[in-house]
Amino acid sequence: MTRNYNRNPLRIFIGVGHGGTDPGAVNHKLGLTEAGINLSVALLMQTDLRRHGVQVKLSRSVDEEDRLKEEIAECNAYAPDFAVELHTNAGGGTGFEVYYQLEPWEHSKPSMELARLFDTNVCKYLGADTRGLKTDRSLGWLNQVQAPCILVENFFLDGPNALWYSQPEQLEKLSRAYVRSILEYYGIAYIPDGSVSLRYQVVGADDSVKDYVCPAVLVNGSHYVHLRQMAKSLGLAVYYEEAAKKILLYPPESYTESGVQNRLVKNSEYTTDMDRVMAGLDVLTNAAVEST
Ligand SMILES: [Zn+2]
Repeated sequence: MTRNYNRNPLRIFIGVGHGGTDPGAVNHKLGLTEAGINLSVALLMQTDLRRHGVQVKLSRSVDEEDRLKEEIAECNAYAPDFAVELHTNAGGGTGFEVYYQLEPWEHSKPSMELARLFDTNVCKYLGADTRGLKTDRSLGWLNQVQAPCILVENFFLDGPNALWYSQPEQLEKLSRAYVRSILEYYGIAYIPDGSVSLRYQVVGADDSVKDYVCPAVLVNGSHYVHLRQMAKSLGLAVYYEEAAKKILLYPPESYTESGVQNRLVKNSEYTTDMDRVMAGLDVLTNAAVEST
């Protein structure tokens, strides 16, 4: 059930429930606060989403006051493709819970489908029970956010899985199940763990060179899948310098790949077709332009 989003990159807003003088639910025995758990999950989600090229905004990224009204205003100003509000359940119970939006109609369907993915993936990746999909017209978050949105209640912090919250690897699993759900819905492939850091350089029109690193995986023998997408969105071309094993991104209006010289050459250095032929550059483009 892949859905398209109108803008590139995808924009996600994460409401981080409670904070500051409002800790939310508290488990004194284990020293857990809902505000703290919500923030941990949000920060993990942010990191994971960003490495997939998704734009993320959190309602707060530290322990501070964060009232629902302000969260909603901030979310609507950001105009995300999808918004999720994080809470942690309490009061004696088990299982994961998720609420979806009923109105307006055009948001209701994506909200429900996203809620279902969250529910399915929490089951699948944490092997835990869930309380199913719910909706509640009295929840301000669901009523006032002007984008498809859901509200999740993480596992009970006073339930049988409460100890998970003191285990970083379990927190990571939970946030990853959420991230996978979002990416799955929007048709973005999840980059598995063990992906490599790919170094590349961006060559500017003024010959400047800057170093960057991005996550990448081998897909069909190529490391470039995500890098190529990113380059394309920036209007840059990708060149792999075989001998130096270097990846260069360059503005195609300023440089051309030279097969003969095995490097990028500056277009302004080769103004005539003869120059370009001698440099091993393609002159067909110019010829094609002249003939039209
Ligand atoms: Zn709460």
